[in-house]
Amino acid sequence: MTAFWTEPDFDDHEMVHVVRDRGSGLTAIIAVHSTHLGPGAGGTRFWHYPDPKDGLRDALRLSRGMSYKNAMAGLPMGGGKAVILADDARTKTPEMLAAFGDAVEGLGGRYVTAEDVGISEADMVAVSQRTAHVSGLPVSGEDSAGGDPGPFTSYGIYLGIKAAVRHKLGTDDMRGVHVAVQGTGSVGGGVAKLLAKDGARLTLADIHADAVAALAQELGADVVAPDAILTTPCDVLSPNALGAILDERSIDALQTQIVAGGANNQLARAHHGKALFERGILYAPDYVINAGGIISVATEYLARRDGHHASKADVNARIEQIPARLEQVWQTSQASGTSPDIVADQMAQELIGRGAAA
Ligand code: NAD
Repeated sequence: MTAFWTEPDFDDHEMVHVVRDRGSGLTAIIAVHSTHLGPGAGGTRFWHYPDPKDGLRDALRLSRGMSYKNAMAGLPMGGGKAVILADDARTKTPEMLAAFGDAVEGLGGRYVTAEDVGISEADMVAVSQRTAHVSGLPVSGEDSAGGDPGPFTSYGIYLGIKAAVRHKLGTDDMRGVHVAVQGTGSVGGGVAKLLAKDGARLTLADIHADAVAALAQELGADVVAPDAILTTPCDVLSPNALGAILDERSIDALQTQIVAGGANNQLARAHHGKALFERGILYAPDYVINAGGIISVATEYLARRDGHHASKADVNARIEQIPARLEQVWQTSQASGTSPDIVADQMAQELIGRGAAA
C-alpha cells in the first residue's frame, strides 16, 4: 500500500492533525504546511464535504497556499489551514467551537486560526475563549490593524495594478487607462473606487445588476453584462469575483495587456499561467497581489501576541511592499522566460526553505 502522505496533495506538510471530539461531535482537520517563517497561519473553513477526503484535500492545498502567500507578503508566518467537517445539516454549536479552540490551543501556537468560508467573526470570538492563537477578532479602535480585510485587499490590488501599468505600459499616470473590473463586491468595488480617483477609465460587471449600476453612476463608469467582461477590450482586466476563470478558451479571447485582480485561484489549471505568458499578457499572481487582507489579519495577531498596538498605517506600510514584490516576480520572469505564476511559486519555495537549492 502506498503511504498516504505520498498522495499528490501532500507536500511534506509538517503536520496534519485530525480532531475528533465525541462530546460535541466535532470533526476537524488542521494542516500545517510550514512553520519555517513563523506559526502556520490560515483560516478555518466550515464546510459539508460529502466525501471527507475532499476536506483533507482542501486542508492540504489551502495550507500550502498560505505558506506561499504569507512568505511572499514578507510576513513572519508560515502556512496552515483548518477544515471543520460539517454534517449535512451544517450543525455548528458553541461546544464544537470550544472543542476546536481547545485543539488549536493544544498545538501550542504552531497553528494560528482566523475566519474563512462558513466561519464568522462571532465564531472566532467563541474560539478565542479557548485559545490565544486566533486572529480576525473585532478591532479595538478606528485606527487599529485588523477588522474587515476587504479594504486592505483592495488597496494592495490597486497598488499592484498601478505597478503592472508601470511595468507593461511604462506610465505612472492612470488617467484614461482602461480597467475592466469583474465583480464589484467588497474587494472589486474598493479597487474601482480607488482607480476612479486616479482618473482611470472603468468598465464594471457584476451579477448584481442594481448594485453595479449604482456604483457605475457614482464613479462615471461603464457597465457590461457579466459574460462580456472577459472579452472587453481594455488595458487591465481585474478579476475580483470567481476563481478558475482563466482557461484555454477565455485566455484566447482576452483583449487585455494585463490581468491583475484579487480573486483566488484565477488560473483554472497550472499551465494556464504559461498560456497567458505566451500571449504576452502580464499576469500578477493572485496570491501575491491579494495579500492585503492577510497582512492586516497577521499584523493584528502579531501585535496582540507581542503586547503592542498596531495601526492601520503599520498595515498599509506593509501592503505598500506588494508592488516591489510583483516587480521582482516580473523581472525574474522576463529574465528567465518563465511565467510569473511559476516564478512566484519558486520564490515562495525559496523563502520557506524548500527551494531547488535547499
Ligand atoms: P464579495 O462577495 O464581496 O464580492 C464578489 C462579487 O462578485 C459580488 O458582488 C458578486 O455578485 C460578484 N460576482 C459573482 N459572480 C460573478 C460573475 N460571474 N460575474 C461578475 N461578478 C460576479 O467577495 P470579496 O470579498 O469581494 O472577494 C472577491 C474575491 O477576492 C474572491 O475570489 C475572494 O476569495 C478573493 N479574496 C478576497 C479577500 C478579502 O479580503 N475579502 C482577500 C483575498 C482574496
